[in-house]
Amino acid sequence: MLDVAIIGGGPAGLSAGLYATRGGLKNVVMFEKGMPGGQITSSSEMENYPGVATVMDGMSFMAPWTEQCTRFGLKHEMANVEKVAKNSDGSFSIFLEGGKEEKAKAVIVCTGSTPKKAGFKGEDEFFGKGVSTCATCDGFFYKNKEVAVLGGGDTALEEAQYLANICSKVYLIHRRDEFRAAPVTVEKAKKNPKIEFITSASVDEVYGDNIAGVKGIKVKLKDGSIRDLQVPGIFTFVGLNVRNDVLKGEDGKFICDTLPTGQVRVNLKMQTNIPGLFAAGDLREDAPKQVVCAAADGAVAALSAMSYIESLH
Ligand code: FAD
Ligand code: NAP
Repeated sequence: MLDVAIIGGGPAGLSAGLYATRGGLKNVVMFEKGMPGGQITSSSEMENYPGVATVMDGMSFMAPWTEQCTRFGLKHEMANVEKVAKNSDGSFSIFLEGGKEEKAKAVIVCTGSTPKKAGFKGEDEFFGKGVSTCATCDGFFYKNKEVAVLGGGDTALEEAQYLANICSKVYLIHRRDEFRAAPVTVEKAKKNPKIEFITSASVDEVYGDNIAGVKGIKVKLKDGSIRDLQVPGIFTFVGLNVRNDVLKGEDGKFICDTLPTGQVRVNLKMQTNIPGLFAAGDLREDAPKQVVCAAADGAVAALSAMSYIESLH
């Protein structure tokens, strides 16, 4: 039986792993379906983590986190967790893809969030063939070409600037005139001569063919007219959905309390309403969706899980 099972290896999961192992727990496994690091590894620029004055890309920023945790004994199992269930003896079962089951005294769920779809015609058909949600991953394919970015949040505005360093021009398309992104980020983007803002506009359609991929996009403007942008790539940054599937029971209902929007309800100790089950990071209610906050949540959850395990004796 594991002491603690951590599900997800982003900033929250890694920080939980560090605190749980360094705090003396011997048998802690972090189940992460990919490489640890989480969604920040798709960011081109990380500059607001307190104490880290060097601006770096998300992948470089997260690399030492895993190294530090494993030094204290955190085990990483590369596995996709399908479900978590509470057993009648108070333990938890963690069901992995492929049929394997693990048992743990406590579980910390840190599955974070994933990019939302924008919903325009051609989005699914051309995903990976010109439609992307990761500028760091795919920006280079559009070196010296024109691209479009959709969205008005921090991600869209920051990634538009990253793309402007590589591409010849970036069209920033947003459905309103006002932006959700931090004012300082908007100002910086507005000053960039390679970014053209197209506001109060929506993407109607992305078109192309199977060989060339995306050839252009049709943008509906405020006055109802259509502007045809002949770009080979569009990056969509229209927000995030929480990843909460592991907390759904056989009947499709959540095993712990959640908000109608899917975020997990926790108290200040990151405890859900199920004893021994904790949630941390972007997944939890009121998450500020920042690396520093996810990391802090992970630390709190690990300390709470240790107290919970102590209380079992
Ligand atoms: P995540 O980082 O989402 O990690 C969750 C992990 O769980 C993932 O690795 C995933 O593979 C794994 N997982 C999910 N489901 C399962 C499963 N069923 N089984 C196994 N593993 C699973 N924040 C900042 O503070 N500063 C920034 O500059 C900044 N820039 C950003 C730029 C971009 C492009 C994006 C997308 C986000 C940015 N953020 C930034 C936000 C920040 O990345 C998140 O708030 C933070 O990563 C949340 O951490 P987390 O650990 O809760 O979840
Ligand atoms: P977000 O803040 O939710 O912004 C999503 C944007 O997409 C909004 O402007 C929204 O428009 C627009 N949008 C939503 N659905 C759309 C649709 N179907 N079609 C067209 N546009 C649509 O998402 P995010 O930018 O990914 O940021 C997520 C979280 O991570 C935020 O809390 C953010 O602060 C944080 N983050 C922080 C940093 C940083 O600290 N440097 C960097 C990146 C992200 P409306 O505005 O009209 O709703």
